[in-house]
Amino acid sequence: MALISCRDVTMTYENTVALRDLTFTVESGDYLCVLGENGSGKSTLIKGLLGLKAPARGTIAFGDGLRRNEIGYLPQQTQIQREFPACVSEVVLSGCLNRGGLPFYTRADRARAAEVLEKLELSGLARRSYRELSGGQQQRVLLARALCATHKLLLLDEPVSGLDPVASAHMYELLARLNREEGITIIMVSHDVHGALESANRILHLHTKMLYFGPAEDYFRTELGRRFLGDERHE
Ligand code: ADP
Ligand code: MG
Repeated sequence: MALISCRDVTMTYENTVALRDLTFTVESGDYLCVLGENGSGKSTLIKGLLGLKAPARGTIAFGDGLRRNEIGYLPQQTQIQREFPACVSEVVLSGCLNRGGLPFYTRADRARAAEVLEKLELSGLARRSYRELSGGQQQRVLLARALCATHKLLLLDEPVSGLDPVASAHMYELLARLNREEGITIIMVSHDVHGALESANRILHLHTKMLYFGPAEDYFRTELGRRFLGDERHE
């Protein structure tokens, strides 16, 4: 069975259909990039996968033993998050609370946080205040936080928006490495098709309904893919 199977999923807000009749699967080890203009339903899909919002119709099923509290999530950044008054290691450690259970950290949690800090080249920043970091460093800390919650699946909503090209490239490199070397499945919403395209093996293009789902290399041979890439270049 696939890691995630979405079947005929429709998601609505009071007066809006945000997603219509979405059917696709994600296999363990995939790197799926979710594309689409503003308002096309990308963040709504992420909410559905996280169980924060139930589909109006259709089903979202998990396979390969995946449980909902084993998903690492990096939300779209907000100003509040940027000013979070805590040190780096505390922010990273807070990712462990996602599992539910007791509201304090175990020795295993602390070991996991230290391991993740090391892996993302953040050990040197562990004692620094989160709000004093650069945007790129902050996103890396939030990625580390998401990684504390999972060995299996990362959901990232626009992880490079607001970052400069160097910080974006570094972020993509880290994600590619986690996918390749640790076998972590990645589902990433992105506006930046070019960066995403380097590592993603699957593309899902949304415009309320599904415009494309399939291999990344085939997407860029379609009229839709070429047009979306072209639009990006002129932005
Ligand atoms: P994207 O992430 O692709 O920009 P969203 O999933 O955020 O798109 O939004 C999809 C559609 O649902 C849009 O029309 C948006 O206005 C609407 N929408 C999103 N969130 C809400 C909400 N909390 N209440 C009402 N409508 C919403
Ligand atoms: Mg969004």
